[in-house]
Amino acid sequence: MEDDSLHDDVLSQLEDLRLTPQRPLIVSDADEVIFAFVRSLEGFLLDNGHFMDLQSFALRGNIRDAKTREAVSAEMVKSLLGDFFSERTEQIEPVDGAAEALAALSERAQILVLSNVPLDQISARRRALVKNGMDYPLIANIGRKGGAMAYLAERHEAPIFFLDDIPHNISSVAQKAEEVTRLHFIADHRLRDLLGAADDAHVRIDDWPGVRRYIEDSLSQQGY
Ligand SMILES: [Mg+2]
Repeated sequence: MEDDSLHDDVLSQLEDLRLTPQRPLIVSDADEVIFAFVRSLEGFLLDNGHFMDLQSFALRGNIRDAKTREAVSAEMVKSLLGDFFSERTEQIEPVDGAAEALAALSERAQILVLSNVPLDQISARRRALVKNGMDYPLIANIGRKGGAMAYLAERHEAPIFFLDDIPHNISSVAQKAEEVTRLHFIADHRLRDLLGAADDAHVRIDDWPGVRRYIEDSLSQQGY
């Protein structure tokens, strides 16, 4: 059972945030929600003697050696991912429509990016956000996201929305901060077909204009 608690290195970042409790808050994941993680990782793998063969919603078992065509070990997956983050975090491509939708939504809500990017890549991820027109505060999370969302929800009065591609993060938020509205979002067309709506999500939406409509309607219904 993975831990839902809040890591000290995450807590210290949350404590530095300056949010307005009375203004709605949208907390978005980065990889596979506002950045095209899988597409970018695929490019990196091809440059490094591997390829991705997406048979399930997981990296493990789906990264193969280009020569032998064998799936690589879990250790190798971890090492390739580490190299990908150190080499390509700043160059990662954005998801279509993310910057436009967030810019529109930021007129009615605060935006926060909550990403499980490795801590030593925070600056590179910040630069990628700025470069792609998404200059919003970034928290580098560790582990499941319920702990961080509980911290935010306890201090917030206005509605909070949470977006993520990974079902266990959505479940973690459902457990620790159930008042948060949870959107399940998967940008990659192949990945999204491999996974149904997360059990603990309020809604599954895979495109940014759709997210914008959903959040705007929800805010209007709640009088914001
Ligand atoms: Mg993600």
